[in-house]
Amino acid sequence: MAKKKILFECQHCGLTTPKWMGKCTSCGAWDSFIELNEHQQEVVKQTKKSSSNSAKAISINKIKEESVYRYSSQDKELDMVLGGGIVPGSLTLIGGSPGVGKSTLLLKVGGDIASTGKNVLYVTGEESTGQIKLRANRLNANKDSLYLLSEIRLGQILIEIQEREYDFLIIDSIQTLYSEDISSAPGSVTQVRQITFELMRIAKDKNIAIFIIGHITKEGSIAGPRILEHMVDTVLYFEGDSSQELRILRGFKNRFGSTNEIGVFEMRSDGLVSATDIASRFFNRNSQQSGSALTVIMEGSRPIILEVQALVSESHTPNSKRQATGFDNNRLNMLLALLERKLEIPLSGYDVFINITGGIKITETSADLAILAAILSSFRDRAISKETIFIGEVSLVGDVRDVYGMDVRLREAKMQNISKALVAKKPLEKTGIKTFIVDEVTKLLEWY
Ligand SMILES: [Zn+2]
Repeated sequence: MAKKKILFECQHCGLTTPKWMGKCTSCGAWDSFIELNEHQQEVVKQTKKSSSNSAKAISINKIKEESVYRYSSQDKELDMVLGGGIVPGSLTLIGGSPGVGKSTLLLKVGGDIASTGKNVLYVTGEESTGQIKLRANRLNANKDSLYLLSEIRLGQILIEIQEREYDFLIIDSIQTLYSEDISSAPGSVTQVRQITFELMRIAKDKNIAIFIIGHITKEGSIAGPRILEHMVDTVLYFEGDSSQELRILRGFKNRFGSTNEIGVFEMRSDGLVSATDIASRFFNRNSQQSGSALTVIMEGSRPIILEVQALVSESHTPNSKRQATGFDNNRLNMLLALLERKLEIPLSGYDVFINITGGIKITETSADLAILAAILSSFRDRAISKETIFIGEVSLVGDVRDVYGMDVRLREAKMQNISKALVAKKPLEKTGIKTFIVDEVTKLLEWY
């Protein structure tokens, strides 16, 4: 008879070891190990296996293309970030800080999908069905084929799914759910793995699209384990917090499409909905303050005009502060060093703050030139005309480089009545915007 295998698992990070440990060597947590029973060991094995399936190689010309069928979530921006719509049988994690609007968005979407004749189940472990009903009234989501279930036991949820043909399932939230087969607390690694594994199985089995809500801690990770991200098909996160007018939903993983696109939402009295008039929402055309410069970034297929704000003020501490919101801090430090070195701007005695309006995070380098322009504008206390945009990547040696999609960016700027652009290279196409070439950062000084 084979010897019974013993396995322990850290309930914070998911590290498994054959020996019990008082302190986890991976995440440093104390007293976090529990012993896994045979069934749990099997789930661990299977979830690990799914990423390393062995199979024989097949000629590429003999492989059938996978066609992915999707249906609309009835929400324009959610469809966009999902890559075109909801894939039946898929498992999606939607994360964000508490209060950002995850529940209202999915309740609204649930109601809208229900009104197309599909059966939708909203499982809440956080609120009573009465509370959800109140909110559904406000969101106009009270549709006959939207079903509510207040339940935290996985077994009961699975029974409900067996009893009715559901197309769409919302779990609010993963942190409250628990499987009675497991003794560890809700939100722990073993629980989350077991629940996700079961949900994945039922999604594929019954071709139900499942959306799981996950709350994010202050440190920016899903409260409880990260393991969820590896197991699901699609991961979407809300950027920023609930204080912002616009909420950005960004894709981090998508088994059925690209993760390039973002979704832009706004909080209104009837909940979190697709934002309208996105093109003009990320900048204020009318303010004429120093420290503000406009640029155009690309978010997937969409050009978005952004306002970069800088505040340069004399520092009263030995270590001056450099802080960026929505922009990479290391890149800011690099740009500041460049300003000192190439433009001889003595910034060492100054605090520098950067803010990108609208709660968007810049993930490309095209905004470098606008960051420099905003810093110079604040430093010299001279406002920049809102007729001008800055687009260009700045290199370590101080030259400015062209970025992709310049024609698309300039055409968007033209649509928003911007007349001048400072760029690294003359664009190939006529865009109706007067361009000025700034191929070295030193040339930026001529503009002040
Ligand atoms: Zn650990």
